[in-house]
This record gives sequence, C-alpha cells and structure tokens, in this order.
Amino acid sequence: MFSAADLPTPIRKALLDSGLETEAPPERRIFTNRDLNFDSISVIGFDMDYTLAIYRQEEIEAMSILSTTAKLIARGYPEKLREVPNDPKFAIRGLMVDRKLGNIIKMDRHGYVGRAYHGLRKLQRPERKAIYRDQRLGQERERFAAVDTLFALPEVTLFAAAVELIDREPQLWGAGGPPSYAETWLDVRECIDEAHRDGSIKDHVRDDPGRFIEADPDLARALHQLRSAGKKLFLLTNSLLDYTDVVMKFLLDGALPSYPDWTTYFDWMVVGASKPSFFTENAPFQELDPGGAPLGGKKQQVQRGKIYGGGNQLGLQASLGVHPDEVLYVGDHIYGDIVRSKKSSGWRTALVVQELEHELEVRRDWEMTLREIEGLHGLRARLADEIGGHRYLARTLARLEPAELVRTGLSLPEATAMLETTRADLRKRLDWLRNYEQETQGTLERRGHEVDAAFNPYWGSSFRERNDTSRFGAQVESFACIYTSRVSNLLFASPAKYFISPHGSMPHWAVGR
Ligand code: IMP
Ligand code: MG
Repeated sequence: MFSAADLPTPIRKALLDSGLETEAPPERRIFTNRDLNFDSISVIGFDMDYTLAIYRQEEIEAMSILSTTAKLIARGYPEKLREVPNDPKFAIRGLMVDRKLGNIIKMDRHGYVGRAYHGLRKLQRPERKAIYRDQRLGQERERFAAVDTLFALPEVTLFAAAVELIDREPQLWGAGGPPSYAETWLDVRECIDEAHRDGSIKDHVRDDPGRFIEADPDLARALHQLRSAGKKLFLLTNSLLDYTDVVMKFLLDGALPSYPDWTTYFDWMVVGASKPSFFTENAPFQELDPGGAPLGGKKQQVQRGKIYGGGNQLGLQASLGVHPDEVLYVGDHIYGDIVRSKKSSGWRTALVVQELEHELEVRRDWEMTLREIEGLHGLRARLADEIGGHRYLARTLARLEPAELVRTGLSLPEATAMLETTRADLRKRLDWLRNYEQETQGTLERRGHEVDAAFNPYWGSSFRERNDTSRFGAQVESFACIYTSRVSNLLFASPAKYFISPHGSMPHWAVGR
C-alpha cells in the first residue's frame, strides 16, 4: 500500500510543514468502532477538561489529594491520613468502588470481578471469589460507584488510603470509632466535590496552568484544519466561564495569527452545561458577558459567537441547524459525554482516552510477549479440550468389562491384558497432557504478570481483564464511534476520511473461512 512514508522527502517535508500530515505515529492513531464518514460530519463539538485540555495526571492528582485530605481532616479524619502513601498508579479509569466493603474492583465485560483490592491490600483469589462470585453487579446500584473519568482517580486513591487507616488504626477516630466504609466514600466524594467547587483545585490551575495542563502544539492547527474544511465547531463544557477562559487561553490564545483569541475557533460556546443532565433535561441557556455575568433573559436556543451557560441538548441541536447524525461530539467522560449523548442525542461520538498513548507504547514494547500469550491461550484451550476428551474416554474404558471384548474374538486373558495396556496408555497420555497444561498455565501466568506490570502494576491494562475485554474496554467499544488519545490526532485524519470499523464478527463466523 502506498503511504505518506513512500513520498519523496521534499514533498513529505512540505506536507509536514503545512500541517497536512497524513500518517499518525501509532500512539496517535484514531480507532474505529462504528463506521463514520468524516465528510458527512458538518459540526464537531468538544468537551474541554481532559478532552481539549490534557491534564498532567500526576500533578493534578497530587494536588487534588492534598486539598481533599485537608478537607477530610477538617471533618474529623485523623492527621495520619496525610501519611498513608498514595501511589499515582493505584487508580485507573474503569474501576468500580464497592462502597459497602471498602473494595476497589476491576471487572471484565460480563461483570466478572478479575481483580480486587481492599484498601491497598490485594485480595487473593479465594477471598475475591468468595465475595464476588455470586455478586450480581447492577442489582445493587447504590453499592457500587463507577470510576468514569480521570478526575475521579484521586477519590479512589484517597478512599483506599482511608480504608487502610480505618482497618489499621481505628482507635485514631476516638471513642465513637471510625465511620463505615460507605460513609467514608461519601465523605471523600463530598470533599472532592467541594474542592472542585470552592477553588481549592482550580485556583492552583489558574495560578500556573502550565504546571497542570499540557500545551499541545498541534491542537490549534488541528482545529484550524477542521474549520478550513468547512466544519463548524462548538465548545460544550461543564466548567464555568472563569475557569474555561483560563484553560482555553492557555491552550489556544496566540497559537495562530489568524485567530485573535480562543473564542474565535468556535461557532457556538456553552459552559457550565451540567452534563449528563444537559442531554436529558431542559434547562434554558443564559447568555454571559466575558466576565461570566448574565446578559438578558433565558433562551431556548443559542446564537453564534456568543457564550452561554447551562442549556440543553435539544436547544443546542436546534441552533446548529443540521441533522443530529452530522454532529460529532468529542469528550472524555465515558458516561457524561459519551454514553449519555449516544443514548439521547443521536450525535456521533468520539472518545478521548489519554491512557491510550501508554497502552499503545506498552503494546508495542511487549509485542512479542503479547503474541506469545495469545498463542499460549490457544494452546491452553486445545489442551483443555484434549484433556476433557481423554477423561471421558478413561471413564468409559473403566466401565468396559473384558468379557465384552471376548465377543470380538479375543480370549479372556488377551482381552484383560489389552484393556489394561490401553488404560495405562491413556493414563500416561492424560498425565502428560495435564503436565503440559500446568506448564502452559504457569508460563501464561508469568508472562501475564510481566505484561500487566508494564501496563499497570495493580490492574494491568485498562482495556482488558484477563483474556477478555474489561468493563471499560466494552464501554469504549459500545458507545464511542471512534476513539483516540488526544484531540490533536484529528490533524492526521483528512476531513473527508472514512473511518471503517474492523469489527462486525461473531466467534462462529470464523468457521469455514
Ligand atoms: P468538562 O470535562 O469540560 O465538561 O468539565 C469537567 C468539569 O467538572 C471541571 O470543571 C471539573 O472541575 C468538574 N468536576 C470534575 N469532577 C468533579 C467532581 O467530582 N465534583 C465536582 N466537579 C467536578
Ligand atoms: Mg471532560
């Protein structure tokens, strides 16, 4: 296949210089779950936090944890909470929190719990199975909380630290004893909410955006390329205008001479949108002045070039003047941006998964091992089949009497000897198969641990659980039409690209190929 790499160097360089790259490095590729003709997309909407703005996860997480810990201590949690070590790798997106038992769990697409921690202690298989084997997740909605966004990682880390302290040193809470795990979760949630609202987090970002947000040199060019292709853009964020202004200025102001400030990249702008209820309820829009103060009365629709607070999807849709399937909404929140909008707006969806860059790097670095693992899984399945067949045969032979062989013309001693030899051969073969299976299983586990540690030492890959797609991976597959690691990767997609899904097959469809 002819690719950009085959172009003569001067042409390639000219394309690169003019921002017309056609080939993305692997970690910046766009992946397709459902076919999407980019040419028929005329409006593209963007979420801001963790979508246009890629946060430096370790920095923002450490700062959120500090602010929230201070709030918990002010509520009566022990000072010692500050000393519980918190590893930024501990929490990943897609986990679930079992508020009742103080556990953090990772599930596969079917709701099977493949890994679990109680506080910071890993639950070994028997303990994990005893708790979760019969657990019908979903029947106890109140009990489990989903970790749907990177904003939520610090609350998982803090909850685990608090559970750890409750178990280890309950006396620190004095005569009344520590709160229940469920109460602790609620306290952590409320304190984080407060930290988001009262400036404890945002004031730090405002003071030094570059410390917390990555400046992506390709972002402005990517948006410009979309606009040049005739697509209209909108911003739809839950952040309020004062904060939105700080972040967007940092990302876009001064990036390209033809755009005097960040607002000129967007045709419509909605802040303080309260997603997910933006997609399901009917709040009016309020026009805002540049300082965030209300201008005029409430509206059901929006006009171009103005900034609004609040609002609802139907009103925005009516203002865009196109059919919902010509709209692509790009967001990072699997529920608030993607699941909700997919279910109620009819918009096409693109999910930004920041973690994908690390995921793809690890997949590249460990490619040989991953192939080996795949092969070993196949081998284990074959061996399990063979062993099953041999055991069935052994049971059948155990029931066979020598007398039944005499009818075939053998003498009784001959029949007895033949039966014994055959049974012994079968036993030998079965032993060999079992050893082989154990060896395979051992190698599989060792290799699995090695690769898991490279993805994430606590949880492995965000997208997989054991040999299946993780719950998070399944949500990405079901609800995001396309997904990629950052918005600026759109730079590598021609505005007329046809994204084609490689899927659409069921396991039995491979038979006969
Ligand atoms: P968006 O992703 O641009 O829609 O904006 C997300 C906004 O939600 C940011 O302003 C965050 O500070 C805010 N946010 C994220 N998590 C929480 C939370 O747990 N409580 C309150 N606000 C949150
Ligand atoms: Mg977001």
